[in-house]
Amino acid sequence: MTFLSGFFTAVVEFIFPPFCMLCGGQLNLNDKLVCRSCLSDLKKVEGIVQDGVIDFDCIDEIRAGAYYDQKLQTLIHHFKYQRALALADAFADILSPIIRENAPWCTSDLLIPVPLHKVKFRERSFNQSEEIAKALSCKVDIPCSTDVLLRRANTESQTQMADAQERVKNMANVFVVKNSNTVKGKTVILIDDLITTGSTANACARVLKQHGAQRVYVLTVGRPYF
Ligand SMILES: [Zn+2]
Repeated sequence: MTFLSGFFTAVVEFIFPPFCMLCGGQLNLNDKLVCRSCLSDLKKVEGIVQDGVIDFDCIDEIRAGAYYDQKLQTLIHHFKYQRALALADAFADILSPIIRENAPWCTSDLLIPVPLHKVKFRERSFNQSEEIAKALSCKVDIPCSTDVLLRRANTESQTQMADAQERVKNMANVFVVKNSNTVKGKTVILIDDLITTGSTANACARVLKQHGAQRVYVLTVGRPYF
């Protein structure tokens, strides 16, 4: 048994070496894949995100954890494409103060991750936004709901489309709400890994509001520089 658990630990440490993936320094016991120092070095986004996002008419406020620089790109890439799911906890550490320290946000009723289409979910075997939302939910004590907002079309966000009406048309009917009672009259925080044009989050916010959500905030780990 001791041999087996030792072997198992060795395998786990081989897959997830206890060194920071950004600076290569040794990790402390509670650090997951990235050290505290690298996390605090990420360039934090202050205040509400206003510039750069072009589709936000259904969103009440947008906030983000950090700027999407080379370091954050490395973390998100590992998280999404190499299944470094333990990073969800580090991302939640970046995001939880934003909810706690901003008065209307901290009394929100529900966290809802931007859903993946089931084909994409099967390919990836997890939804990155859901992993972040679940980790965040434990830290801010706001329930996370993963069965309210669903994605029924496998449409990518339309970053290239210049025309706003075209983008809205293209995202129409991509998301559906199941069980409206869960969101009726509620303040919802939508969680995603990144925000660029805002068209995906805005399409989610639109359908949530059509089903009675009172306010929809959007919180993402990263946002690009503009
Ligand atoms: Zn580091």
